[in-house]
Amino acid sequence: MQSRLAFEYILTPQGLVRDQALVVDAQGRIERLEPRGKDCDGFLAVPGMPNAHSHAFQRALAGYGEVPEGADSFWSWREAMYHLANRVTPEELFIIAREAFWDMLRGGFTSVAEFHYLHHMPDGRPGAQMGRAVVAAARETGIRIRLLPVFYQQGGFGKPARDEQRRFIHGSVEDFCALLEELHDVELGLAPHSLRAVPAESLPALIAATAKYMDAAAPIHIHISEQRREVEECQEFYKATPIELLAKNVGLDPRWNLVHATHATAAECASIRKAGSTVVICPITEAYLGDGLFAADDFVSAGGQIAIGSDSNCRIDAIEELRLLEYGQRLRKERRARLATSAGLGVPLWTAACRGGAAALGHPGGAIEPGRFADLVVLQREASALRGHDVDTLMDALIIGGSRADIGDVYVGGERRVHAGVCHGQEESARVFNDAVKRLNEI
Ligand SMILES: [Zn+2]
Repeated sequence: MQSRLAFEYILTPQGLVRDQALVVDAQGRIERLEPRGKDCDGFLAVPGMPNAHSHAFQRALAGYGEVPEGADSFWSWREAMYHLANRVTPEELFIIAREAFWDMLRGGFTSVAEFHYLHHMPDGRPGAQMGRAVVAAARETGIRIRLLPVFYQQGGFGKPARDEQRRFIHGSVEDFCALLEELHDVELGLAPHSLRAVPAESLPALIAATAKYMDAAAPIHIHISEQRREVEECQEFYKATPIELLAKNVGLDPRWNLVHATHATAAECASIRKAGSTVVICPITEAYLGDGLFAADDFVSAGGQIAIGSDSNCRIDAIEELRLLEYGQRLRKERRARLATSAGLGVPLWTAACRGGAAALGHPGGAIEPGRFADLVVLQREASALRGHDVDTLMDALIIGGSRADIGDVYVGGERRVHAGVCHGQEESARVFNDAVKRLNEI
C-alpha cells in the first residue's frame, strides 16, 4: 500500500527543502516528493544513517574494563572482549543484539552492516546459530541488516590462532563456505577480519570462492591500520604497511570498505580515493579504544568517500559520531569547521556519511530521493539545539548541539519503528538484557 509522509523540512541531495511530502510505494521506496498541504508528520526529516560497522555483542561490554592496564590498553580491552565473547550463547546474543539494534534505531541508524565474527558455539561446534541470532534480532527490531560473516584464520601475522579465538576461526575457506551456505537466505557481504587474521596472499582465493553466496555488488569490509602496533607488525612481517599490502594483493575498488584506516598515510589515502573505496570511521569507538585520528578532513576535501560506524556500540548516536568526527579534526589541526563547505557543516557531513554508508551496505538508501528506501530520521520541533534556527543553519545546529534525545520518529522502508523516541518492546525486555550483561561480565 502506498503511504504519504509530510514534513516541515526535508534534507534532500539538493539541500534542505520546506513543506514537502514523500510518497512511499508498497515496497517501502520513495516514489516522489510533492507539496505537503495541511498534513504534518514531523519537523525535520533526514535520511536514516547507515551504520557501516558494528559488533552488536560488544554492546554488553560498555562500561566494563575502565581501569588502567599499563601502556598496552587496546590489547587488554581485547582480552576483556574475549572473556565475554567466549561465554555468549545464541539466546544471549539475540538479547544483546536486539538491544543494540533498538538503540541504533533510536540513535538515528536505520540499517547496519554487522561485522559478525562470533561464529561457533561456546564449545567450539560450528553452525550458523550465532549468525541467525543476530539476523533474528534485526528482524524483530526492524533495522535493515547486511550480515558480514567474518573470515578469521590466524592469531596474528604468521601466528597460529589462540584458544580464546576458537569461536571466530575457520580452518579453511571450505569450512567458511559451509557457513555461508547455511546462511543462504540472508543478505550477505564478505569480511576478511584483518590482515592480522587473514594472510593477504590468500584474499583473492577467498573472494573467488565466496562470490556465489552473495550478489555481485556485495560489499567487502576489512579492519585495517587501526592500531600503530598492527602497522608495525605488518611492516616487520611483510615489509609493507597493511594498506599497501591489501592494495597489492586485491586491487581496491568501490566494493571495498576500509574500516578505521586510522594510520593511513597521505599516499595511501590517495590510492583509496582513486580506487573509489570507502573509509569507515568509527569516531566514538576509536576514541574509546585510543586508536588515533584518521586524517578525515584532508581525505574528504580531496573527494574521498567516508561512512560511519558504531563499532563497539559503547555509545550509539549517529549525531554524536559526526560531531566527534568533526571535533577530532579540529583538535588535530587546531582549526575550526574542518568538514564544512560553503553549504555549512551539517548538510554536507550528514549527506556524505549517508552516501558512503549506503555504498558500504550495498543498499539503495542514504538519501531522500525517488527510488531510494524510505529510511528516515525525524527530529522534533522542540529539540533544544534546533530552536531559533531556520533552513540555512538547522543542520549545523543539529551537528553542533544535537543528540539522539532530539530524535522523535524513525522509519525503515516507510514503516515507523521509533515513535516519540520509544521502540515498541524495548522497555519490557530491559530485565533480560540487564541480567545477560551482568552474567556475561562476571569474572
Ligand atoms: Zn570492528
